[in-house]
Amino acid sequence: METRQEAALSRLEKNSRVGKIRLIVAIDACPACRRQEGEYDKGHVPELPTRGCSHPLRCRCFYEPTLIEIFP
Ligand SMILES: [Zn+2]
Repeated sequence: METRQEAALSRLEKNSRVGKIRLIVAIDACPACRRQEGEYDKGHVPELPTRGCSHPLRCRCFYEPTLIEIFP
């Protein structure tokens, strides 16, 4: 079954206003999550929750779109 984050990612990838997709990590994210932080092209975005996440509260990374155009 698709997770909430997978669903969010596929929505962003289908949205033509979205240029790139940023992976945002929590301030106290574990090393595995920190390594994934950054901006990615569509189709090259790492999946969430992060594989090997070692944080006691679990992976709290999320996706944020980079918009091509700003709404008027
Ligand atoms: Zn983590």
